[in-house]
Amino acid sequence: MTDRHHVEALRSGDRSALARAITLIESRRPDHEAAARVLLTAVLPHTGKADRIGVSGVPGAGKSTFIEVLGLRLTASGRRVAVLTVDPTSGVSGGSILGDKTRMERLANDPRAFVRPSPSGGTLGGVARRTREAMLLCEAAGYDIVIVETVGIGQSETVVADMVDVFLLLMLAGAGDELQGIKRGVLELADVVAVNKADGDNRERAAAAAAELRGALRVLAAGDGAPPPVLTCSAVTGEGIDGVWAEIARIAEADTASGARDQRRADQSVRWLWRALDDLLVSELHSDPAVTERLERLEADVRAKRVPATTAAAELLRIFRLGPDSSHLNESASSIPTE
Ligand code: GDP
Repeated sequence: MTDRHHVEALRSGDRSALARAITLIESRRPDHEAAARVLLTAVLPHTGKADRIGVSGVPGAGKSTFIEVLGLRLTASGRRVAVLTVDPTSGVSGGSILGDKTRMERLANDPRAFVRPSPSGGTLGGVARRTREAMLLCEAAGYDIVIVETVGIGQSETVVADMVDVFLLLMLAGAGDELQGIKRGVLELADVVAVNKADGDNRERAAAAAAELRGALRVLAAGDGAPPPVLTCSAVTGEGIDGVWAEIARIAEADTASGARDQRRADQSVRWLWRALDDLLVSELHSDPAVTERLERLEADVRAKRVPATTAAAELLRIFRLGPDSSHLNESASSIPTE
């Protein structure tokens, strides 16, 4: 299929064209990367119209149950919803754990929805390295709301918070913050906090946890604007879900009206440029034969305290700058003193 036809199919809302486009941008094959750049440039003018929502929380917090219920409500009201899930814990196998489980099956079968698990690329703090581009493709395909789900245990939520308009943190009652693995930094990223599983016997504990969180967030936000709202909900009974969405929508609308959203997105784009550049440089460095040839010995030298790490890094960069076919120069041109 030609690029132009692919773009047209994508823009017409063809879900398989969107799925193929995401596969293309995730590929590390150089010809695919070149095609992906052409595709992204073509769709860029058609991006930016969706509400971009991040959802994070520890495994078991109920993220996928919550997103499915919310997503189905939104599609029922006529919205088109795309969900991109990122699982940093899947980095080791290179595959996607979320993809192995059938998650959000009802939402995935909804013609107004698109659900896509992405394997994490092991870079950008464990977030799939192309999640932001996948989000742009979803927007070009006409989705009104893009939800990016990530597990709140590492760096991934920082990266996700930096690509969305509103960041929702799902919490659980009855487990301390430490137990939930939620660090203060993650709490600081939240625009909305919801204590999930507020149903049955757990209802009161959820309300108490919400009150406690409100207190903690007030302290955190001291002098620095209003703390994020803390609500309770149940993804199983559906209670409180509309309230959580109302808060998200309220923030999204206010930020759009004030111009804060445009400002935030512009800043995010520039930060993404730097992340992409870091990513690109590191992968170029790793695929440079002269660098890899020297790397093993330099690592051994660093381990054995023969060479400071900073010097080894400078040396690797020097070799990299010499370009390909320079491996034979490495030894003689080495600037590292050997003691
Ligand atoms: P995730 O790992 O954060 O995506 O969590 P899941 O959505 O997979 O949910 C983990 C477990 O909690 C599942 O067994 C869900 O059925 C259950 N669960 C999710 N939301 C609720 C809720 O609101 N109430 C109750 N009682 N159980 C829930």
